[in-house]
Parts: sequence; C-alpha cells; structure tokens
Amino acid sequence: MKKTFCFALLMCCLTLSAQSLADMVDPLGGTASSYEFSHGNVYPATAVPFGMHAWTPQTGRNGDGWTYRYDAIKIRGIKLTHQPSPWINDYGSISLMPVGHELKVRENDRAAFFSHEREEARAYSYKVKLLETGILAEVAPTSRAAMMRFTIPEGQPSHIVLDAFPKGRDAELVQVSVDKDKSKITGISRHHHGGVPKGFGLYFVITFDQPLLDAGTWNEREGVKRSTSIEGDQAGAWVKVNGGIVHASIGASFISLEQAERNLSTEIGSNNFDSIKARAKAEWEKTLGRVVVEGGTKEQQSIFYTCLYRASLFPRTFHEINAEGRTVHYSPYNGKVVDGVMYTDNGFWDTFRSAFPLLTLLQPTLNGQMMQGFVNAYSESGWIPEWQSPGHRNCMIGTNSASILTDAWIKGIRGWDIEKGWEGLMKAAHNPGPVSSVGRLGAEHYDKLGYVPSNVGINESAARSLEYAYNDFCLWQLAKVLGKPAEVQEKYRDRALNYRHLFDDSIGFMRGKKSDGSWQTPFRPDSWGGVFTEGCSWHWTWCVFHDSAGLSRLFGGDKPMSEKLDAVFTALPTFESSYYGSVIHEIAEMVVADMGQYAHGNQPIQHMIYMYNHVGQPWKAQAWLREVMDRMYKPGPELYCGDEDNGQTSAWYVFSAMGMYSVTPGVPQYALGSPLFNRITLNLENGKTFTIEAPNNSPKNIYVQSATLNGKPLSRTWIGHEEILAGGTLKYVMSDVPNLQRGTNISDRPYSMETWENR
Ligand code: CA
Repeated sequence: MKKTFCFALLMCCLTLSAQSLADMVDPLGGTASSYEFSHGNVYPATAVPFGMHAWTPQTGRNGDGWTYRYDAIKIRGIKLTHQPSPWINDYGSISLMPVGHELKVRENDRAAFFSHEREEARAYSYKVKLLETGILAEVAPTSRAAMMRFTIPEGQPSHIVLDAFPKGRDAELVQVSVDKDKSKITGISRHHHGGVPKGFGLYFVITFDQPLLDAGTWNEREGVKRSTSIEGDQAGAWVKVNGGIVHASIGASFISLEQAERNLSTEIGSNNFDSIKARAKAEWEKTLGRVVVEGGTKEQQSIFYTCLYRASLFPRTFHEINAEGRTVHYSPYNGKVVDGVMYTDNGFWDTFRSAFPLLTLLQPTLNGQMMQGFVNAYSESGWIPEWQSPGHRNCMIGTNSASILTDAWIKGIRGWDIEKGWEGLMKAAHNPGPVSSVGRLGAEHYDKLGYVPSNVGINESAARSLEYAYNDFCLWQLAKVLGKPAEVQEKYRDRALNYRHLFDDSIGFMRGKKSDGSWQTPFRPDSWGGVFTEGCSWHWTWCVFHDSAGLSRLFGGDKPMSEKLDAVFTALPTFESSYYGSVIHEIAEMVVADMGQYAHGNQPIQHMIYMYNHVGQPWKAQAWLREVMDRMYKPGPELYCGDEDNGQTSAWYVFSAMGMYSVTPGVPQYALGSPLFNRITLNLENGKTFTIEAPNNSPKNIYVQSATLNGKPLSRTWIGHEEILAGGTLKYVMSDVPNLQRGTNISDRPYSMETWENR
C-alpha cells in the first residue's frame, strides 16, 4: 500500500516536473482578428521574452498591419517584426521565404498555401509546411538574431527569397547585396510607419550553411535581376540551394552592419538549430515559471500561460552589446548611438493599468532597467514617452508615464535615475509635447481650471482631465517618497481631486464641461468619443483609480454608486458613434459581449469590477470577475474580446486568475477578487514563494467565504505588495453562496485617497 502510494507520488512529481509551461502557450490565440472586429489583433510572435526581434509567419501584404490572419490560406514569408499593434504597424522588417524550384519573388507570386494542421506555432519556435513544394520552414529566435531551418525534399534544388520591404516615408533607399561565394546576404531595411529619426534602418546579415548554386537580387517592379547588389524603394535578394536541410542564420541591428554581424556571432555562434530552440524554450520556462498554477481546466491553464506570454513580449529590448561589451543603443529619438539601455513598443495608456504592475511583481530587476530606458528616452528627446514605437507616436491620451514610474519606485524598484525621471514627469505635467499624446495637451487650461474644457478645440477633453487628475495623484505619491517640498506635495494632492469637476451629480455620470463651468450638451451616457476616448461615460465615469470613496460621496454614498455599477451590466449595449463616423471595433466588441455597457475589450473600464470592493460588496466583484474570465477569454484563435494591447488585456487575466488586481497603480496594494485555480505559486525574484490556495475552488464555488494570510484571519479585500514579497500563504475557503458580511467594513476596503489619507 505504502509502496504503491510512494510510486504514485513519484510519478506525479515526475509528471509535474516534466510539464512544460512554454508548451501551454498558444501563440495563435487571438489571431482571428480583422479591422472590423478584434479577437486580440495579435500575431503569433516567436521570440525570447522581451526580445529585440520577433518572428511571425506573414499572410498579409507587406505593410498590412494584419500581418497574420487566422483565416488566411497563404503565407508570403517568415517575417522579422517589431509591430506592437496593427494600428501602429511595423518597422525594421525583412522576410525570408523558400519558394521551391521555380523562382517566384514578388509577394503575391511567392505566396504559398499552408494549413493550420501542418503548422506548429510556439513561443520559442515556429514551423510550417509549404504544401505545394513540400518544404518545411522553421525559425528559432535569440534576442537579436535567429536561425531558420528549411527542410527541402532531396534532389530538388530550391530558391529562398529575401524581401527587405518597402522603405518608409522620407527614408533612405533600401539596400541589399548577395555574395554567392560567401553564401551570404547583407542589407538595410528602411521599413517604418513613423516614429523614427532620419537615417533609421535595420541592418541585417544572413548566412547559409550550404554553398549557393546561384544568387541574385530582385524588386517588385522589375522582378528577378542578376545583379549582386540593389538599392531602391523596395529590394530583395534570392539564392538557389541544393535540396536537403539548409540553415539560414540571421543577425540584425539598429546600429550598423558590423553590429548585426556581432549580434549574429555572439548569440548564434556555433549553436545548431535545436540548441537555439531549446535555449529559447528554457528562457520561456523561466519567465513563465514565475507563476505556477494548479487546478482549473487544461484550457484555463493554456489561456493563463498564453496571457503571461503576451505580457512578456513588450516593451521590447532595443539596446545592443558593442565590441567593448558595453550596452549601447541606436536612439529612436535623436538617431545617435548612445550608451545605456532602451526599451520600446508600448502604449502606456493601455499598459499602466496592469501590464507594468505585473512586471513590478514578477520581473522587478528588468522593470528597473525599463524605467531607466524611459528616463533615457527623456534625455534623448526631451520628453518622457507615452506611446513609443520605436520613437514617440501620436496615439491615445494622458500622461500615464507618471503612473508607471511612480508605481515602480513606490514598490521599491531601484537601479534607475528617479530624479531625472521626476524632472521629465514635471515637464510633461505642465506642457503640451511634440505630439498630442506626449506631455499634456490642454495643460494651460487644466492648470488654470482643473479640467480641460470641452469648448476650446481639444478633443477627448473629459478623458484627458480624468487621467491628468489620476496622474497628478501619482505625482503626489512620488513627491512624498522623494521628499519634495511640502508645497509641491500639496499642489499635486489638491490636483488629484480634479476629477470632481466633471461629475454631474444630477445624473450620476462624468461629462464634459465648458470653460464657463456649464455642462457640455447634449449628453448621452452611451455617446462614444467626443469628450471621451474610445468609450462613453458609462466607461469613463469610473476613471478615478485613486479615490473610489471620494467618487462614492459624489454619487451620494455606496448604495447609489453600487447601483450604478450594477447598472453598467443591466443597461442595454446601446451606443452613439457619430464622433467616429462609423462603428469602431471596440463598440462592436462591447455589443457582442452581451454584458450591457461593460466593455472589457477596451481599457477604460477594465478595473471597474474591482470597485465593488470599494463600496463594500466584494461578492459582486467575485461573481463578475469569474464570468469575465469564463466568457471574455476563450481558448483558440478567438482568445480575446478586443485588442490585446501590449500585454494589458492579458495581464488583467493573469492578475485576476491569481485573484487580485492593481486598481491603483502608484499605491503598493492589490484589490482581491476570486482566484481561478486551486493553487497559484508565485516564485518571486527575491527567492521567496507566495502561494494562493483555494482548495475547494470550482466553477460553482466562486465566492470567498473566508480567507487567512499566513494562518491569520484576513477580513480585508486587498493585499499589500510587501506582504506578497515577504512570501507566505493566502488561503481561501470558497463557497457557492456569497458571504454578505465579509469586506463590508470601511477599514477592510482597498486604498482610496479620501478614506486612507486621513487615517
Ligand atoms: Ca484598446
């Protein structure tokens, strides 16, 4: 009996240890997306965590933001990509495509049939069979290089086509050279869609491990050419190889051709394809292994690790290691090569909410380097970034860099220049920037009135004002810990309450206000855009991350506020969209979700459910969170219910499945929800372990009956960042009926400026 038990236990342990978290990731999840409707608007990225270059099969035309669509039937190449979002598009792209015996170079001619049945997309590798030629194409990545393996039927000499993409606007000419004797292609891609200084390019070198039977160049206009070098608005090269297995090793750099060679030799060196693939896989196991979940269904585990993978791609590394071993980067801001780290491809409007808070918890050292990268961006451009790809982009609103930098510093992330960062944040808080999404558009009005009026020619004025107020709250928190003068602290404390200007207590909604203090008319709570950003007042009324208690008082108390929270779900999903002139995909996604006005597919409302904790009704949060986890995240290509957005919609799931969420970044605590799994183990960077246990958790037992933290009863509905970092166990007793007493006391509720700062 005992022997059998031991054997069973051993087998269980072996199974557990052999379980690959990386193999639970489904990079195709979310790829069934289009311009009209997003199930994520992601492509299957094969990369190392936060790697400089990523690789994706390319089904769309060069320059099409929907670079890979699940419903496509043909592939045009395997593309080196840096795209953070289809709306921002790609830069520094090249692709390689094996085309068989017949030399077909143009992107439409060379497109080849493929099938999902003969495709294997992993975080750490990608493999596809090109059905007409029978060629198997694979890629395995490092951060700044990759190796491809082409398995070509024996005795069938074949061509491989490199496409260096069309040049971006105002860019220099694309250059490509091929050296038949050295089995080598070199060149510069000038592909971009903005956000680059003059002279921008991606330098690349590709070496083949077989002698080339023939080689040449091409372009879309003229087709195949015999020349060994070419330059133009678009250009490419082709090589001819014998059948069998052919490897192409690719190094790429934003600095120089010499640096591309260095990236190739230091990261690929003498490694073979399988060892590069194994090393990339090991990197993913380590990154994903920061959180180990047990229980739930296989599908839920796969969604969880797919989300954690998506939350571990951006912001990407943009620095390289030079000949002296120093960390240097091509500045996407001033075009110079300078010392230090750089990270890019991120929209802070999305990611301040939970993608960056997740990094502070799981990747604190890396998070500190990212903060230094953002400070470096300030040094190089004069502005702290808000939407970068690779340089400043004009997209979205707010100065949410204040949230990201403050949250990191408050949570003890060090090793970066906070004083320089503070300087950048101060400049951004009071000045419009070089593009409308950097600095504060309408700062002069906001500084004078406490809000940006709706009648001064600045769009999305209410949304801007609400985010500025929260951003000012973050500046207050940061001013306190940095010991800034009392008057500076008081200034931002007062400004944190500016959200009050826009609340109309006669209707219980946030709305636009004119410079004379009168309300903007007409008003419809379901009117998208206008004074709001990608949402309506149903969504933006909750944009008071830092002061739910103060918001509750404006509503007239917890009862009317909780009724308004309920009403979000019971209202019909009506909308008014004349601001956009069409029904934008975010609206379509809200309607189709059938959760009333709750629009989980876009960011403004993603924290709202947790606000039930703040009005003393945590059981409602628990029920709605489990419903959103079940219904708004699905295994397979329709994974997400809207744009994924650089890890944000994924980080929501990762946090929520762990039973917590960063409602107020800038405050080191998490509101508690309802964990999805029976056991969640956080393997923290500091060597400690924090475990969340819910042994009787089930699809029915979604309510928290009671909880203990390290064996002591826990009545509050939040947990401190420090409590997690200290290691320990948070244990839940779950139930199928809500506990209507737990978490109701004001002293048990999560952070709110009004109740906490007077304690
Ligand atoms: Ca979005």
